Amino acid sequence: MNTNEVIETNDEYVMNTYGRYNLVIDHAHGCIVYDMEGNEYIDMVAGIAVNSIGHTHQKVAETISKQSKKLIHISNLYYSQEQAVYAKHLVELSPHDKVFFANSGAEANEAAIKLARKYTHKGEIITMKDSFHGRTLATITATGQPKYQKGFEPLPAGFKHVEYNNIDAVKEAITDETAAILVEPIQGESGVRVPDEGYLSDLRKLCDEKGILLIFDEVQTGFGRTGKFFASELSGVVPDITTSAKAIAGGIPMGAMLANKEVANAFTPGTHATTFGGTALACSVADTVLDIFEEEDLVTKSRDNGKYFMEKLEALKENHSCIVEVRGSGLMVGIELDYECGDLVAKAQDKGILINVANGNVVRFVPPLIITKEELDKVVEVIDEILP
Ligand SMILES: *Cc1c(COP(=O)(O)O)cnc(C)c1O
Repeated sequence: MNTNEVIETNDEYVMNTYGRYNLVIDHAHGCIVYDMEGNEYIDMVAGIAVNSIGHTHQKVAETISKQSKKLIHISNLYYSQEQAVYAKHLVELSPHDKVFFANSGAEANEAAIKLARKYTHKGEIITMKDSFHGRTLATITATGQPKYQKGFEPLPAGFKHVEYNNIDAVKEAITDETAAILVEPIQGESGVRVPDEGYLSDLRKLCDEKGILLIFDEVQTGFGRTGKFFASELSGVVPDITTSAKAIAGGIPMGAMLANKEVANAFTPGTHATTFGGTALACSVADTVLDIFEEEDLVTKSRDNGKYFMEKLEALKENHSCIVEVRGSGLMVGIELDYECGDLVAKAQDKGILINVANGNVVRFVPPLIITKEELDKVVEVIDEILP
């Protein structure tokens, strides 16, 4: 097939839920993706913060190949060494005691909502406006953006939205029925919004006072994205439950919901399950991903190169008055502009850079954490050329 045939065939047979860019990606390696004509692009999207170790990593390819000949899936009726080994490895890197394996971010959040209700025997979950928690019915309801809920009513009961980064709004919303507060430590989808210092620790204090669980949605911020392994380490706040997914297994679908022992023990056999959660294949790949993180020191790279990148973007302000703010942490970076900038995506693509626009006016960068300063220089050069 050629590019047009792929697009036409896809549009004819795949349901029309995605506003896709006009690009067919044929193959990819490291930070570079290639279209069907062989043109190359620096990937500043990374499958939306998924391909943190870069595309088609040799070690991941070897693990997939080896594991696929040993054991792919057995269901959770049985044990596998791969799941046991990875669970230990992941839990030890987290501030928690136990993990439940899911297959996506939304499912990890669903599991967290269920666990919070089961543990507290209460129903109400407070979440934030402009948040994003996934596309299942419960998680679109948790998501504080009406556009994702419209047309899918009736929505599940028990969710309340308050302004992000506003501790008083949370205080006012708490009732005797509040089970948990679910929050992204940095909001991703709504345009890389970093809360004020003290906000997350104030949430922690409030939860402790009122006996409410604190849940961090680290589906996007987890696995080194923000310059720490989990973004919770930036504030030093330890939540009761952490969910994660995107970068967990190098692009193999997987999610995880982690909790401390007391809370986790509210789940007993039969209370929650998924057929595919924690397959031997996903766990072995995820474990290889953790090895790569260590060997290539990716958390440090994210922190240092993110800082370098943000400084260079900050300097663009001098010649581009349309820049309102450059913000982020590690290699989760956004530039807020004073206009709707969706047209920049095609302009960057023409110059060999894949970018993404969040919330209409924020250019979002979530590249592979292996990206080099030279590649980031090239990105800054292109942004400089295409910004008005
Ligand atoms: C992407 C995302 C989700 C949803 O993850 P899926 O794997 O698409 O279900 C949930 N929360 C946050 C913060 C995300 O960025």
